[in-house]
Amino acid sequence: MRVVIFDTFQDIIANFAIVTAFLFMTSQVFFKKRGLGEPLTWSEKFIIGLIGGLLGTLLIIFTVSFDNTILDFRQLALILTALAGGIVPTLITGIIISLMRLFAFGSITTDTLIATWNTMLIALGVGIVCSMGFSYWKKWVYSLLICNVLTSIVFFLILGSHGLSPTVLFVLMMSAGGLFSAHLALFLEKAKRYSLRMERDATVDYLTGLNNHRMFDLLFNKKLSNAIDKNQELTLMLVDIDYFKKVNDTYGHPNGDSLLKQVGELLKVTSRNFDVISRIGGEEFSILLIECPHHDALVIAERIRLAVQDHPFELNDGNRINITISIGVASLSRSHQDDIIEQADLALYKAKQNGRNQVFSNLKLHES
Ligand code: GH3
Ligand code: MG
Ligand code: MG
Repeated sequence: MRVVIFDTFQDIIANFAIVTAFLFMTSQVFFKKRGLGEPLTWSEKFIIGLIGGLLGTLLIIFTVSFDNTILDFRQLALILTALAGGIVPTLITGIIISLMRLFAFGSITTDTLIATWNTMLIALGVGIVCSMGFSYWKKWVYSLLICNVLTSIVFFLILGSHGLSPTVLFVLMMSAGGLFSAHLALFLEKAKRYSLRMERDATVDYLTGLNNHRMFDLLFNKKLSNAIDKNQELTLMLVDIDYFKKVNDTYGHPNGDSLLKQVGELLKVTSRNFDVISRIGGEEFSILLIECPHHDALVIAERIRLAVQDHPFELNDGNRINITISIGVASLSRSHQDDIIEQADLALYKAKQNGRNQVFSNLKLHES
């Protein structure tokens, strides 16, 4: 008896290990960049169905034996697939599991046919339950209920009065396996969401959605070494809003924030879509123009300056105001590879000194 229980534990642990490995792999590979419940394409649904089918097949191979009864966790594959992809993938998983059970692992008998119908019925049931608007835990409870009730009926149909002990064992096993899988899947989903959010917060400016200073530094160094290696043009514009402190003092900080967002939007629409736009300070932005000669960059900068000057920026009360920007422009020149951030900063300083609302080129720094 002691050896039997030991074997049963071994079987259960093997099954838990398979479920853990599958959940971990799918969360790391397939669902790495997306959340559970996000819309899927048909091919994605098909792939999820196949993955579920593979999990179900493995769970059929690694059966759990106890007291002359052989059980398996294949129905967990159906519930997990239903949670990940809804009805269609679950039906695909159900078909794969049924075909495997019918053709790969033994002969076709009335009992295996009943088991197949049971699998397909459960696939449909849990697929529907998991596609409805229930909470995560309700989906699990209802799905486990469907599995346990339908499978218990099957046991009694096949085994008659001997169906009681496998039914009890199955219900206990499925409930424990379900609880384990539900917690693990939820934990993996939460861990992934936190890591995605941290990744985003580390690179994106929360207010404007542009690159933040850290991301700007990374991209700048990458583009700079690329431009030096390939002897390409690279231009940096530093954009600073004029008298922004006055805007905040007059209209309040929330209006200031709203204006910063609108400036970010305007910079996006007035730049080329492959330029790198970042918010690198409170009211300071940068635009990195790749493969753009200096005189072209000056034309773009002037276009941006005019676009801001002429744009009616909307305040939270619906009123509109005008603001201006100053832009310092510096390019990587073939003759000297000075620090173009410093050069653009000096040019911006000159633009401010000369009266603001203007573009200043670093080439003019050397003239004056
Ligand atoms: P200048 O024309 O010389 O650039 O004048 P300025 O007032 O724009 O420059 P200054 O550096 O004196 O002030 C920048 C102001 O930007 C100060 C601060 O109140 C405001 N600011 C910085 N970050 C934020 C922000 O995230 N939200 C809001 N609303 N204001 C900000
Ligand atoms: Mg300013
Ligand atoms: Mg400033």
